[in-house]
Amino acid sequence: MSFSLRPKYVIKSLLDLTPQMLKDRGIELLILDLDNTISPYGEKLPSEKVLKWTEDMKKGGIKLYIVSNSKKVRPDVFAKEMDIPFVKRAKKPSPKFIQKAMEDMNISAEKTALAGDQIFTDTLGANLAGVSSILVEPIKFTNVFLRLRYYGEMPFRKMYKNKL
Ligand SMILES: [Mg+2]
Repeated sequence: MSFSLRPKYVIKSLLDLTPQMLKDRGIELLILDLDNTISPYGEKLPSEKVLKWTEDMKKGGIKLYIVSNSKKVRPDVFAKEMDIPFVKRAKKPSPKFIQKAMEDMNISAEKTALAGDQIFTDTLGANLAGVSSILVEPIKFTNVFLRLRYYGEMPFRKMYKNKL
C-alpha cells in the first residue's frame, strides 16, 4: 500500500489485455473501472467486443469485478450484461471497495490488478489498496474537462514501470 500516482503497467486499451498476460504476472482477479475504461461515457450497453473480451477472460480463468465511482444506473446494467459482480459509488481513490472486491472473491492483493483510465482515482486507488495498477487510455473525450484532466495527468502517465 502506497500513496503513489505511478502506474505499474500501461496498455492502450482494456481490450488489449489477455488472460495470459495477467496469469504470467500472477493476476487472478481483474478489477475494472467502467467509465472510459470499459465504455465511453453515455453508452447504454457494453459493446460486442467488450462482451467477447469478457468471455475470453472468464474462459482464461480471470475473475472480473467492476468498481465504479458512478452513481448512475450504468454499473448495474454493464455488470448484468457482462455477468460479473460490481459496486458503484465506490469513491476511488478510497481503497475501501477495492478491498471489498478482493474479500468477495477471496483473492489477495498480490493476485489482483485494477485497470482504469484515471491516475487520481484508479491508479492511486489501486496503489493504496496494494494491487497492481494498470493504466489504460481513456476511450473517448466527450467533453473538454476530460481532455484537460488527461493532460494534467500526463506527467504521471509517463512514469509507468512496465508497458504491457
Ligand atoms: Mg474512468
